[in-house]
Amino acid sequence: MPDLRDAFDELEKIYAQPPALPCVSCGTCCVTPHLTLVEFAYQLDSLLTLLSPEEISALMDAPMPEAEHLPGNYLCKLQNAENKCLSHPGRSLSCRLEGLPLMDLLANRITPICPHITDQDVASDVTAELISQWQDRLSALNAGFHTVMEEPYWLESLNLECWWAVALDPKITQPFFLQIRQHLADTFDLSLFAPHYVDTTDLSRKLNLIDAFFAANEQKNPDKAFKLIRQVMHDFPRTGTYYRREAQEYFKLMKQIIKSRGK
Ligand code: SF4
Ligand code: SF4
Repeated sequence: MPDLRDAFDELEKIYAQPPALPCVSCGTCCVTPHLTLVEFAYQLDSLLTLLSPEEISALMDAPMPEAEHLPGNYLCKLQNAENKCLSHPGRSLSCRLEGLPLMDLLANRITPICPHITDQDVASDVTAELISQWQDRLSALNAGFHTVMEEPYWLESLNLECWWAVALDPKITQPFFLQIRQHLADTFDLSLFAPHYVDTTDLSRKLNLIDAFFAANEQKNPDKAFKLIRQVMHDFPRTGTYYRREAQEYFKLMKQIIKSRGK
């Protein structure tokens, strides 16, 4: 099995691309971030390097505060009481892009606009195309470990809480995710994290509904499939946007189902 750490050199090259930003650590944008598998591994590596076993226990046991400014989301588990990131060197690309004024223009953004950094603060030639290229490089890197953006799960990235679930939730039994869990277990000793895991996302139930949706589709039961896909899309706010383009793929399927019902 490939070791997730083998991807870290290329990941660090991608992380070196965004410009340094004059972030004042106000914490506004630090809701549970989205990241890819290799990035989650990098963050785990960072946590295991930076924190003591006692600090890891405390981190995992800490209650998840609601992001009041973004209903349905939690504040990031890795943000401390002074709004500092406990895993700053290991933070994901999405965290490294927060504060870039350009991010305000991106259509799929869910986090609030940075109230502190403006165009005048950032001498940057970063374009939307460049960000897209970095994200594509991330996807290519992850393709060494799992299929990216393919049925049935269209996995590209997950929020941090969902990754804990993939790594540690015994209720997740899909072979696709068990293989990813194996990659993580082969690379890291997760015994410091496992006893403290609490399900905060209900991801396992969402994955079961996705499986049921595809079964209903195969059985040519569009009414059931339609009901299931609505649940998948709307009933799991704690999974965040789930995958970067997932919603678009489900939307396409819903349109197909509506079309088939009309026949
Ligand atoms: S909102 Fe802006 S200033 Fe506040 S933590 Fe995020 S990037 Fe930094
Ligand atoms: S990982 Fe760090 S920078 Fe990213 S959202 Fe969490 S606290 Fe903020």
